[in-house]
Amino acid sequence: MLLFIVALMFVVRAEPIATVDATVPQEHRKLIALSFDDVPRLRGAFLTPQERGERLIATLKEKQVDQAAFFLNPGQLTEYGDTKGATQRIRDYVAAGHVIANHSFTHPNLGKVSAADYLSNIDAAEQWLVKQPGHRPWFRYPFLHEGGKDMAKRDAVRAGLKARGLLNAYVTIDGSDWNMEDQALKAVKAGKKIDMAALRDLYVETHVQSADFSDALMVRTLGRSPAHMILLHETDMAALFLGDLIDALRSDGWEIISADGAFADPIYKLAPNTPFAAGTLTEGLAWEKGITGPRWYDRNDTDIANRLFAERVLHEK
Ligand SMILES: [Zn+2]
Repeated sequence: MLLFIVALMFVVRAEPIATVDATVPQEHRKLIALSFDDVPRLRGAFLTPQERGERLIATLKEKQVDQAAFFLNPGQLTEYGDTKGATQRIRDYVAAGHVIANHSFTHPNLGKVSAADYLSNIDAAEQWLVKQPGHRPWFRYPFLHEGGKDMAKRDAVRAGLKARGLLNAYVTIDGSDWNMEDQALKAVKAGKKIDMAALRDLYVETHVQSADFSDALMVRTLGRSPAHMILLHETDMAALFLGDLIDALRSDGWEIISADGAFADPIYKLAPNTPFAAGTLTEGLAWEKGITGPRWYDRNDTDIANRLFAERVLHEK
């Protein structure tokens, strides 16, 4: 009998895990795609927009990220008086295999304009975009602002997007990288000394933490880990530290996928019914489902983020 049990144990243990019990859930895969908003963005503290673009393209290639999404404000092409350089940079992103989509013409805040004006602004951007290679029918709300408590306005814009065949290109992960870029720019302008290694560590740590925060909240909300979309911007931070961030995400178990792959997840067709002012799809879905506990990664609070920046990057008390 004992021999039989031992033999049975051996047989069970020798079986590949997947065939022992088909009801065992699949290994938890953490999938993430990269997106960069506000293209073309004004120069930051360290690099010219040209250098920034070259570094981004080189890093994505070196780290074998085949397709990231760049969300454009074509109205800024003329605004910044750098039409030629910025347009070329956008072409270079596409030539490197990345895709471009709509972030409105001039980055209006839906809290401050009518639905009709907002949709015309989207149309102006789309007119420019449809002629470009690498274009995708995706729209990313500036400030992630979907109308706040004004449900009529929210629904009018949502219906307008649908009528135009534009996907609401939600983000599920946000670490407020734009604020870190602003803090660095302010510090440099004020003549303060920046600890670049500490800045890199803060940027990387913040985004990996934010990714894990969102993934845990999504699992609690949906019962599964969706294909995530992280919000980054066309910043010096990204140009300098994206390689480190990609390495850190991978060491933390994340798999980088294409933007096309991420938006194929059905969660991006959802439209959470919440007074949704400035957040991620993760927050919206958790809110709608009444999930308790924090629904918002705390470093998106600029007071918290700025205190960390001062302490760790500027070594101020
Ligand atoms: Zn933006």
